[in-house]
Amino acid sequence: MARHAVFHRLCVSDIEWLTDDAVAVTFDVPPDLADDYSFAPGQHLTVRSDAIGDDVRRNYSICTPAGSGRLRIGVKRLAKGAFSEHALSRLAVGDELDVMTPSGRFTPMRKRPEPAGVQIE
Ligand SMILES: Cc1cc2nc3c(=O)[nH]c(=O)nc-3n(C[C@H](O)[C@H](O)[C@H](O)COP(=O)(O)OP(=O)(O)OC[C@H]3O[C@@H](n4cnc5c(N)ncnc54)[C@H](O)[C@@H]3O)c2cc1C
Repeated sequence: MARHAVFHRLCVSDIEWLTDDAVAVTFDVPPDLADDYSFAPGQHLTVRSDAIGDDVRRNYSICTPAGSGRLRIGVKRLAKGAFSEHALSRLAVGDELDVMTPSGRFTPMRKRPEPAGVQIE
């Protein structure tokens, strides 16, 4: 899974209010980018928005199961936080965000093959 992480512009397909101060934002991943956005549990996305400036980049853990084909993050409001205030106050379905391909190496270890054992009878 060693890939060079790059930004692509993705469309917000759903915004769900989870609590009074947190939303789940789902991105529409075009079929030709599906492989680029496949992810392992524990990985996160870096997002940026033209609406708040190129220098504001924030990380959000992916909160859908790996292999589900859905790309979703949860954003909790921080008072006066640049990105979270934007996500909770102004972001709308149909808006586009720059979303980096998944990163993060804090993921489950691949299961090692069982060592060849000696069978004692
Ligand atoms: C790997 C990773 C995964 C993460 N996953 C999630 C996740 O799943 N969900 C989630 O909600 N967050 C997650 N975060 C945190 C997220 O990346 C952001 O840091 C968070 O949303 C705040 O960003 P913001 O732009 O809203 O706030 P910022 O603009 O970064 O501000 C943060 C706080 O600092 C204050 N502040 C800013 N500038 C100043 C200043 N000059 N003086 C005093 N105070 C100031 C703001 O008022 C605000 O309260 C994750 C972070 C990492 C590193």
